[in-house]
Amino acid sequence: MNDFKRQPLPLPNGQDKVLLHSCCAPCSGEVMEAMVASGIDFTIFFYNPNIHPLKEYELRKNENIRFAEQFGVPFIDADYDRDNWFERAKGMEHEPERGIRCTMCFDMRFERTALYAHEHGFPVISSSLGISRWKDMNQINDCGHRAASRYPGLSYWDYNWRKGGGSARMIEISKRENFYQQEYCGCVYSLRDSNNHRVSLGRERIKLGVLFYGQEKV
Ligand code: SF4
Repeated sequence: MNDFKRQPLPLPNGQDKVLLHSCCAPCSGEVMEAMVASGIDFTIFFYNPNIHPLKEYELRKNENIRFAEQFGVPFIDADYDRDNWFERAKGMEHEPERGIRCTMCFDMRFERTALYAHEHGFPVISSSLGISRWKDMNQINDCGHRAASRYPGLSYWDYNWRKGGGSARMIEISKRENFYQQEYCGCVYSLRDSNNHRVSLGRERIKLGVLFYGQEKV
């Protein structure tokens, strides 16, 4: 990290202000450091009603707040309207990851991000969601563009945060900051499926709140 020189990031349409949807500290750490290095004026928008249970939601959110405070980056703590999320997920309980339930989940989070951006004068939205290799970047970008297209003058910045070593720096920053390390995507169905997979391999079920980057697994 120390001798790494960041290149300035150009925003779409010459804009310089972003509302950054963040899913968690590990995914947004690299994105935030890249934006800070480019002098971009940005605000974190934490809207993730998919995360279950509440204990896990609070863990992820508080780690993100802790990191945002280090940079003095404004942090919008949006609703945890999980009833709406479950309502929209009805009938999709057994869909696989990267399937239609995830499209719904990204749509819901981006729709609220785009609405907030529209109401509060942000010309650009983006997200940390796509930096994870577990995610389908095209699926996420489609949802982001769809949400932004609802409002005139609003764009979705589909920058590929993985490139140029971004994925590796995401892990480096997470270790440096000892971020909480979540072990499933977020919703109750991903928790169920991750646990089923682990049990099938003879591994223990996920324990919430115990694993942090930089710690040796015992
Ligand atoms: S697996 Fe992840 S992206 Fe898909 S619905 Fe669950 S929380 Fe949302």
